[in-house]
Order: sequence, then structure tokens, then C-alpha cells
Amino acid sequence: MLQTIETLILKMTNYSTEDIVLVRKAYEFAKNTHDGQMRVSGQPYLSHPLGVAHLIVEMNMPARIITAALLHDVLEDTSLPQQQVYKELRDTFDSDMARLVERVTKLSRVRYRGMERYLENLRKMFIAMAEDLRVVVLKFADRLHNLQDLNVLPKHKAQRVAIETIELYAPIAKRLGMGELTGQLEDAAFPHAYPKEYEWLKNLIKGKYEEKERHLQKAKKQAQETLISYDVGYLDISGRTKNFYSLYQKLLRYNRNLLKIYDLVALRIIVQDVPDCYAALGALHSRFAPLKGRIKDYIAQPKPNGYRSLHTTVFDDDGEIVEFQIRTKEMHDESEYGIAAHWRYSETGKKKNAKNQQAKWMTELARVQKDLSDRKMLLETLEELKIDIFQNRIFVSTPRGDIIDLPEDSTPIDFAYAVHSDLGNHCIGAQINDEPAPLDTKLKSSDVVRIIADPKRRSPSSDWLKFVKTRQAKERIKAAQKTNFTKWFVNKLPQKKKKA
Ligand code: MN
Repeated sequence: MLQTIETLILKMTNYSTEDIVLVRKAYEFAKNTHDGQMRVSGQPYLSHPLGVAHLIVEMNMPARIITAALLHDVLEDTSLPQQQVYKELRDTFDSDMARLVERVTKLSRVRYRGMERYLENLRKMFIAMAEDLRVVVLKFADRLHNLQDLNVLPKHKAQRVAIETIELYAPIAKRLGMGELTGQLEDAAFPHAYPKEYEWLKNLIKGKYEEKERHLQKAKKQAQETLISYDVGYLDISGRTKNFYSLYQKLLRYNRNLLKIYDLVALRIIVQDVPDCYAALGALHSRFAPLKGRIKDYIAQPKPNGYRSLHTTVFDDDGEIVEFQIRTKEMHDESEYGIAAHWRYSETGKKKNAKNQQAKWMTELARVQKDLSDRKMLLETLEELKIDIFQNRIFVSTPRGDIIDLPEDSTPIDFAYAVHSDLGNHCIGAQINDEPAPLDTKLKSSDVVRIIADPKRRSPSSDWLKFVKTRQAKERIKAAQKTNFTKWFVNKLPQKKKKA
């Protein structure tokens, strides 16, 4: 379906008139700025910001984020000078909006390729998270919309974007508890990232979902009857099918054996409050036999990303396996939208209520941002992310708070050379977390490293080569020694030769 400003406004039933006026103003601004531009797909450029804005509205985000979605590419993808557009943004909207758009633009500009590109991206995402989480949400929506156009790119380019989505954006979305967005990003990227694996999976589950679905409908009816007979009120029971990519990941952990996957489809039960969650679980267990060791209480013990629910796997009357996920509405919203859940308008759409919700997310946002701007916390989060995304890297920081990533077992010398080659060459000592430490100490993530340098020190020690880890350090040490040897050698030569 064609997405226009009118289809966007139609979706904004929960928003105030002022909100809609603001969004229309942003649309006009974007329309003028992108006038005459085309997407690679051949569509008018405006279709992209409109698409992103639709995704943001579907997440029920505040009007200012929808506004920013419409404006997010005006600084980058126009023929006009950036400074001028920035000023116009500030004058037409306000400085917060201009800055928000600028930050999204900066986040998209990446210099490097390969591993370097990956790390640069990661660092930028973390800075954006600490500065303004709205930027990260906009970036996710931007990427999700771009994934829909991957077919028009050359294959290798499409694959690069898709893999980057799976390895970088999706894990961060997941870490922020945005389950819905994580699944959408992964599923849109999967066919382009790993086409053969995607085909394999598609064939493997051909017909299986449908078969499971039929069982599920039966189980749903029985579950409803059970809850009613036990007088447990529920707001909603619905089936959900597992996301494609997350199914694939799970299969890899289970020797590609589909029979071991119990949550291909699941029944999700939404109830009023926490006591009702347990009441529903009890009622279901009295009706269906639970599988041993498959009852999970993520309410008492939430997952690290904050996910809360009760899970249980049972046998239905035909001996088929069915998973139930029981949660409150609040838990459900949090599992789909993570920290962004607090930005959402209330379902009732009452304006006053919506304002309350906004106040709530402002507080929440301030808290999360404070946590993330705390350097120690940032490093710890990075550390957790590291486990998710890649192994064998550590993150340490300079006393000023710049984060340097290094391979595992790196030493202060590796650190010094990573900061600057002069710092390495003149290094005479190091302090780790304010304590003096030997130069061959193995650094750990979240260490704060201070290098003590003496400009009079002429050259690095060749002993360092015995313990340094990075290629960069090794090469610089060897190079410095060569230069020193040359200098020494040249100095030994008669003056005349030196001149030549
Ligand atoms: Mn964009």
C-alpha cells in the first residue's frame, strides 16, 4: 500500500490536534527539502521518511519522534548546504529538533569498512544511546525501512547491510528490550544475509507452522474454558509464531533438530496483574500436564534485558506440545518495545493519560541516560554486549573517558599505541585504575589506563615485543627501532654523507 501523509495521519487516532499540526509541518519541510530527489529504487525520496514515520507511529511513539522521522534525512540527502538546513530546522521547529536530526545524520555517517567499520558503528551507537535514546530508535526504524529496499542494491552490498543489521543493530535493540523491533530487523535481514540458510529453513518448516497452528486453535479454546472455570480473568489470548531468524538461531543450538523446538508457536495470555499471572499458570497446570523442567518464572527472576513473563510447556489432549506465555499488559508492552514502552501513548488514547505516560517516559529516559553516561556503566554495558556480539575484545578507557577496544590479553603498551604512536614510543610506565602497574599487565574490560610518558625517552624497548598483543604495537615498535638505528647509523657517518 502506498504510504502518504494522509495514511500517516489516519493512523494517528491517539494523538492531539497539536501533534498532527506538528507532523504536517514536518512533512511540508521534508517535501520542500527533498524536492526532485529519488531513491535508488526509483521512488520519490519522500517515500522513505514517510515509511520511517509510519513505523514510528505503529510503535505509538510521541509526536516529536514522528516529526524527527519525517525530517531525519534533510541534512544529509539534499543539495542544500547543511548549515543552512540546520538553521532552517531550528527556526521552523526548535533547537532540540535540529539537534535530534543532526544526531541521526551523524550516526549514519561511517568512515571505515570491515571490522573497523563495525567498531566505529558500535561506538557511535553507544554514544547516541548515552546522549539521546530517541536517536537510536530512529536509526532502527530507518534501517528497518531501508531493508525493504535491499532488492535494488547489488547482492554484495545488500548482504553487507543485512549482516550489519543482524550483528550490530538487532543485538542492541535486543539489549534495550525491544523484542518486536529485534524480530523485525532480523527477519527482514535474514534472507539477504544468509540466503542458503534461509532457503534451508523455509523448506524445513514447510507446512509445519500450519499444522502447529491447527493444534494451537484447539488448545486456545481449551485454555479459555479452563481460565473461565477457575474464574481467572484474562484480557487476551492469542497465538504467536516464532520469528524466523530466532527460530534459525535456536535450531543451530539444537543440532538443527526441529523436534527439539517447543515454542515454534505459542499461546500468549495477557492478564490484569501479577497475582493473576500465577493464578492462570495454576489453572492451566491443573488442566494440562506440564513438561518437567520447562516452567520458567521470569517474573520473579527477569531476564538480563528486563523481560518478564511466566512460561510453561504442556501436553495438549492429542499429546502435542504447547507453550504458554503469561504476562500483564505492562510486561507485554515492555517485552515488545523495551525502554521505549514508556514512550507509548496509553491504549485508551485519553489525552490526559497520554501526557502522564509522556511524563513517565521522560523520567525513565533520564534515568537510563544517566546510567549510560556514567562511564563505568557504559563500559559494563559494552562488556555485556561484547558477550552477545563478539568475543575476544576488551574495552578500556583513557582517564578522559575515551573508550579504546583491544584484543583480549592486551597490555598497557598495546593501549598506548592504540591511543597514539608517540604515546607508545615515549611510554615509561602505566597506572591501571589509579594503581601503578607493570607494562606487561593483561588489561581487563572497564580498566581505566593512564600512560606515563617521558618525551626524553628515545625509543621503545625491544623487550616489549615479547608481550604486546596488537599488530599495531608490534609494527610501531619495530619501525621506531629501525628509525633509531638509521638515526644512530647516520650520526656515525661523516658529516658530508649526512648532508647528502
Ligand atoms: Mn534514512
